[in-house]
Amino acid sequence: GREDCEDLSGINQEEIQKREVYGYVKESSYPNMSCSNCSLYLEPESGNKCGGCVLFDGPVFAEGYCDYWEPNES
Ligand code: SF4
Repeated sequence: GREDCEDLSGINQEEIQKREVYGYVKESSYPNMSCSNCSLYLEPESGNKCGGCVLFDGPVFAEGYCDYWEPNES
């Protein structure tokens, strides 16, 4: 389920604060902008549902978004 990508146990407080400062949300409110098409998104590794972000540690929803979104040119 989607809650799988909300488990921040094991992530240190500094990294959790980063996602808050950057305005990360688990569900983008922009139809054409989400982590899944952001150049800073890290695709899930095999067997893992959650991706990541180069800006902070911890799981990231493909449907998420933050203030640092930038288009993936690939
Ligand atoms: Fe998602 Fe991109 Fe923000 Fe990272 S930088 S949280 S991948 S929108």
